[in-house]
Amino acid sequence: MSELKYCQGPKCHTYYTKDRLKGMKDSKTYQTRRRSSFYYLGGNACDMRCQSDWFQKFGEQAIDHFGRLKEVKHLTEQNAWVKDYNYTSGWGSDKNYIYLNKITNEQRPLTEAQYDDTNYTLNER
Ligand SMILES: [Zn+2]
Repeated sequence: MSELKYCQGPKCHTYYTKDRLKGMKDSKTYQTRRRSSFYYLGGNACDMRCQSDWFQKFGEQAIDHFGRLKEVKHLTEQNAWVKDYNYTSGWGSDKNYIYLNKITNEQRPLTEAQYDDTNYTLNER
């Protein structure tokens, strides 16, 4: 069995659900959920409520830590490239990976590896 992760929701243990009630017969307590994987908060929270609780408590600090946006951003030709794909026609169709400029609508072909590479971009930084 893979290692279990703890839900990072600060109030997870305060919600009364059967699956949170754990322990020996006479000493059961409501506990933070543990699972091999989660779907919320980037894989760190068990549900939307815990995700929201986390953000209520830590969101402000997180934004300050990682950098608060202090001026308007503009979508221009230089930063308007987005990865996308379409399907070749017909049955059993393959994906055509493309870079699409949302301003000019110019398309450039991408390999699947480039599509999957989160650092690969045509945007000027
Ligand atoms: Zn939780």
